[in-house]
Amino acid sequence: MADPLDLDDPLELEDALDLVVAKAPILGTESVPLSSSLGRVLATDCRSDVDAPPFDRCMMDGYAFRAEDVADAPTSLRLVGTVFAGHEHLEDVPPGSAVKVMTGAPLPPGCDTVQALERTREDGTRVVIHDRVKTGLHVAPKAEEIAIGEVALARGSLIGPAEVGVLALCGCSEVEVHARPLAAVISTGDELVEVGEKPGPAQLRNSNGPMLAVLARQLGCDPVQLLPSVSDDPDSLRAALERGLEADVLLVSGGVSKGQADLVGETFTELGVEPVFHGVKVQPGKPLWFGRSETSLVFGLPGNPVSALTTARIFAGTAIRRMRGLNQPRPRWMAATLIDSFRRNPRRRGLLPAEIRRRGGGLDCRPLGLKGSADLIRTAGANGTWVAPIGQDEFRPGEEVDVLLHEDFADR
Ligand code: AMP
Ligand code: MG
Repeated sequence: MADPLDLDDPLELEDALDLVVAKAPILGTESVPLSSSLGRVLATDCRSDVDAPPFDRCMMDGYAFRAEDVADAPTSLRLVGTVFAGHEHLEDVPPGSAVKVMTGAPLPPGCDTVQALERTREDGTRVVIHDRVKTGLHVAPKAEEIAIGEVALARGSLIGPAEVGVLALCGCSEVEVHARPLAAVISTGDELVEVGEKPGPAQLRNSNGPMLAVLARQLGCDPVQLLPSVSDDPDSLRAALERGLEADVLLVSGGVSKGQADLVGETFTELGVEPVFHGVKVQPGKPLWFGRSETSLVFGLPGNPVSALTTARIFAGTAIRRMRGLNQPRPRWMAATLIDSFRRNPRRRGLLPAEIRRRGGGLDCRPLGLKGSADLIRTAGANGTWVAPIGQDEFRPGEEVDVLLHEDFADR
């Protein structure tokens, strides 16, 4: 690998992601109530303290009996009882008999099979089973899902609603999970005014700050501190960045290119942050700066809003997923079909906001045709990023491309 700090010789995207994963710490653990565990990552294996099902369980409302008794069906069986879910039929069911059962009831002893109500006829004391059946029909055998002591969820599992259900089944009212990173966001630049202000001549509103703060939250940081934006004055910058270093992950926008006012990287270095790389072969986002202090990861993002958003999503996203304890922190590209023709400069990987649509079994990708890397207007509404290859300048409809689906892909 060439000098990772030489902006004139930027790193390949994959190499930069490797460095992010290598430098990002997995955060420590804490115990949270089950009801607050959504979106967290399990820090220990969860073993079941019960069998599931806990007993041979009737899976239909119907009749339980021995399958061999209805080999010559239709067959009439003597009705010897009824059992509801939550109750047990304690006596052995003799041959030639049946028990009426409700879904969820334990299979009565002696029985091996359940037939659904609609395939039977009952007259009060006897029940006719219409057809012969396979042994075990409509019975879920004890422990077929999981046995006592087996791992129900592995550490590193993301906790969604189904996982909460599993944890509940296993008796975990408290869950050991990885901590979430505390994020801070700082925007730099003499030209910035805050959202509530009207920009004067040569000024513009700080759109990166609020945008990156909600992105950090969407990526799983909590809490997220949106710190005041700061001018390019070295002393002010130093003070602001020093404060930001109290966070686990710090996103700074602006000031990482080669301009005279681009002091973010050197200021961090002065503050004792180890620079890891400066420059990635991506378009937009080339001047991305990444460093690590003892307690923080620092991303110096290019100031142009689309560059800042895209690099934060891909690079800071990888770091944040790793910190949260996820096993697969890197962004996962999916295959999609390009539906427009497209031309681009092929010298760097493209990170292009795109509209991704499901079609048949696959995905269609329509790049949004931005007016440059400040064009947030056309970026809004994107639900994916086309990760375009190096070395190809012309693309035709029908070509297969790599895309990253955004966190809220399914809702757009
Ligand atoms: P920089 O990376 O500092 O050279 O910034 C590049 C360009 O991005 C600037 O000229 C601004 O127009 C724009 N920019 C920088 N910071 C912000 C911000 N916080 N919000 C919106 N635009 C910004
Ligand atoms: Mg600037």
